[in-house]
Amino acid sequence: MAARTGGQYLQGLRDQEREVWLGGERVKDVTTHPGLRNGAQAIAGLYDMQHDPELREAMTYVSPTSGERVGLSFIVPRTRQDLEQRRTMILHWARATCGMMGRSPDFMNVTFAAWAGAADYFAQSRPELGQNIRRYYEHIREGDLTLTHALINLQRSRTVSGVLNLEEGTALHVVRETDAGIVVRGARVLATLGPLADEIAVYSPRLAQLTEPHSPFAVNFAIPCGTPGLRFLCRESFDLGRSHFDHPLGSRFEEMDCIAFFDDVLVPWERVFVLGDVNLINGTAMATGSSMHSAHQGAAKNLAKCEFVLGVALLMTRALGNAHLPHSEERVAELMMQTELMRACMRAAEADAELDQWGVMRPAALPVEITRNLFTTAYPRMVEILQLLGSSSFMITPGEADFRTPLAPAIEQYLATEGASARERVKLFRLAWDITGSAFGSRQVLYERFFAGDPLTRARFLAAIYPKDDAMQRVTEFLERSDD
Ligand SMILES: Cc1cc2nc3c(=O)[nH]c(=O)nc-3n(C[C@H](O)[C@H](O)[C@H](O)COP(=O)(O)OP(=O)(O)OC[C@H]3O[C@@H](n4cnc5c(N)ncnc54)[C@H](O)[C@@H]3O)c2cc1C
Repeated sequence: MAARTGGQYLQGLRDQEREVWLGGERVKDVTTHPGLRNGAQAIAGLYDMQHDPELREAMTYVSPTSGERVGLSFIVPRTRQDLEQRRTMILHWARATCGMMGRSPDFMNVTFAAWAGAADYFAQSRPELGQNIRRYYEHIREGDLTLTHALINLQRSRTVSGVLNLEEGTALHVVRETDAGIVVRGARVLATLGPLADEIAVYSPRLAQLTEPHSPFAVNFAIPCGTPGLRFLCRESFDLGRSHFDHPLGSRFEEMDCIAFFDDVLVPWERVFVLGDVNLINGTAMATGSSMHSAHQGAAKNLAKCEFVLGVALLMTRALGNAHLPHSEERVAELMMQTELMRACMRAAEADAELDQWGVMRPAALPVEITRNLFTTAYPRMVEILQLLGSSSFMITPGEADFRTPLAPAIEQYLATEGASARERVKLFRLAWDITGSAFGSRQVLYERFFAGDPLTRARFLAAIYPKDDAMQRVTEFLERSDD
């Protein structure tokens, strides 16, 4: 099958009955539920871009198996040009959602492409697992499927021994093996896009604390979201059912986060990619390069988000007439620096990419890891800058309905500025509020702080991969210079 249209994506969601709970009720149809439907439409819009005559070439490539055009985020990059083309495609999607849907389908596609390229890694413990990952990757590429993923076990204990609370029955684990597959039980977070995905991927970033080489907690698999025994519990929706004027982002880009409960769920053998092997699980992200490919996708998303926030800031200062003030310029310049830093790191990762042991073109680790680390503090700071620039204007934001009341003439008269009519000003600041203050906007800040793991872990990872010897060597040489 070729790259899907939005309509095919939505039909796929309807065709696969799944157990999704939201607000105390089971959701009958995720494509029509008021809290989810606009997010589904946004993803459908991304799929439709693959069929836009002007974008088709940039969004798709020819499948090596079917000869049909499939989504470019599935490509296993073999050259730097492949990486650049994939990033161009990712940027098209990220810009379409203003960088506000971090879990658009490309996020998982690049991971599975990396794993398929490194399929022999999975074959190390059992040869059939290498075949499984190859076939599964082809299945999602040819079907153009959307994946969610859930990596984190719910934590009940903070003691050192209980940090993974593996003994307490909450962590997802394999309870038995059968002829048909493995049976898993437990809960995982945080399945962003869960109700709007076709499949869920479950793996563990690492289980480093485990000392034994084999463990029922070390598992990597993917199954359809409608698999019996799998249930999704959504947080409340941040799509409040308001107009695009009132909540421009929340009314469009609600990607939803869920807890996923696995109640003795059967995972067919062909969907198992790692089973029991702790070292294999711990090494997957680095050995296969999926860590760098995923961070490269994230860097493009970060860039799109930076560009959007910068654009909002520039329009805000124009509307308020304070663009020329030094403190505005200083703050906007900071946004410009973040934007260009993201672009530079993203491109450096492509320029310094190298073929890895699997023959896959791997983005350079350091620059993409830096974008991940930086964004955990840069994005909250960007939001803070918008707040500082906007001040009380965030509160001078009547809703669309207020423009239809007898107060409308007063609103039009008093809220206009030299740079914007009242309506333009309010519309812009309602957008800015959806970045800085609404539930949707607050969740974005939380997302950027934590989506790639907790910041402490990320910082330690960066410290581990940084080439420290050169830096120390230069200082050592300086210290050893003779005094004369
Ligand atoms: C909006 C959002 C969307 C997400 N989407 C996904 C998704 O789609 N799929 C997915 O798998 N995951 C997702 N995540 C989850 C993400 O992977 C986790 O949030 C992240 O790994 C951190 O884990 P945690 O939330 O359990 O934080 P915790 O481990 O509870 O950490 C909380 C804080 O405590 C600190 N801390 C933890 N342990 C210690 C310690 N021993 N000593 C001192 N400080 C400590 C951390 O540094 C952190 O600041 C998402 C998270 C968010 C917020």
